Amino acid sequence: MQLQQAKMTVGRRPAGRPMVSRVPVVRVNATVAMPAPSSTAAQPHGRVFNFSAGPAILPVDVLERAQADLVNWQGTGMSIMEMSHRGKEFESVIQKAEADLRALLGIPSNYKVLFLQGGASTQFSMIPLNLAKAGETVDYVVTGAWSKKAAEEAKKYCEVNIAAKGDNKSLPAVSSWKLSPNSRYVHYCDNETIGGVEFKSTPDVGDRVLISDMSSNFISKPVDVSKYGVIYAGAQKNVGPAGVTIAIIREDLIGHCRPEAPTMLDYKIHVENDSMYNTPPCWAIYVCGLVFDKLLKQGGLEVMQKLNEEKAAILYDAIASSNGFYNSPVDPAVRSLMNVPFTIPSQPDLEKAFIKEAEKAGMLQLKGHRSVGGMRASIYNAMPVEGVQALANFMKEFAAKHAK
Ligand code: PMP
Repeated sequence: MQLQQAKMTVGRRPAGRPMVSRVPVVRVNATVAMPAPSSTAAQPHGRVFNFSAGPAILPVDVLERAQADLVNWQGTGMSIMEMSHRGKEFESVIQKAEADLRALLGIPSNYKVLFLQGGASTQFSMIPLNLAKAGETVDYVVTGAWSKKAAEEAKKYCEVNIAAKGDNKSLPAVSSWKLSPNSRYVHYCDNETIGGVEFKSTPDVGDRVLISDMSSNFISKPVDVSKYGVIYAGAQKNVGPAGVTIAIIREDLIGHCRPEAPTMLDYKIHVENDSMYNTPPCWAIYVCGLVFDKLLKQGGLEVMQKLNEEKAAILYDAIASSNGFYNSPVDPAVRSLMNVPFTIPSQPDLEKAFIKEAEKAGMLQLKGHRSVGGMRASIYNAMPVEGVQALANFMKEFAAKHAK
């Protein structure tokens, strides 16, 4: 156990409420599964470098802020988790979160922002149920496990044309996509979390309705929202805690849900109720709001993109300069800035040792997805450059020890 002085930010006090003193000293359980490794010794609260694909690392100052607010949010005498979602306090939280997200992404006024539940996986069914009638055709571009799942789900509700397929290493050129003449929309995944393939620009599909699953690279870079019909993302990778899914929807696409669809799957219901048709995931929305606020203060998404490019370059350079000891299976033109899979091709038996030794050195969750094996480093917005540099250094040392 370790005593930590939490950073106190003086909160706004709602008029007429007594100022309940905040708890200035909080106990942080610094116990981790391993002895404090040298590479993370300087990490606050005894934290490690967490390369998890999701739920994933959050900025430590956001966690500190949430911790300071936990038992008594802004002098209300209760936590966000304990208060009514209908009260003016939570209303201010969700409204600020939406306003800040709109500012970050420059979301045009003819788009609605929803905070939903059910994960990005529920969007796999909400999209076809809201945007296409039974028997109508929809286009799906399958570039990995997640877009495949999305396409499989849509097959339950409409005619799915697989317009193009990737091979987990490269992405099919947009000019090769075989879009059907009357499709209701074109769905693709901007960043495949498992394969680590990422679109570097918005696919040009003319005036068709473009839908993007941005679960694993949402707010990692600027995006021209006006080119999309719907953008959706589960929060638990690059935004906040699990439990909330963000959907940004062009207004004209709202209000066409099939009548037989469950009420909870109708975008219009959620729009009419400001994401509060039922009890929303208040805590998760609150933490997302803290992240949006932080990113705005850091300078916005251009700044994040630059940082993310720098971080990814450190890892891809470590792979490229390893004389083939490490391999990235992905075409350099479409390598993800968020999820970096790599292998030890000449000695795959060493991969287990790599993951174990990295853990001892304070770098966790580097195991590749169970479907592909190898290693994967997820380096979302919140991963500091020091964490990526520590991993690159470790990779060099490990290769020097084991290269034949
Ligand atoms: N799409 C992508 C790109 C993902 O990475 C994931 C989760 N790993 C999903 C969809 C599914 O998200 P959820 O678990 O929130 O349903």
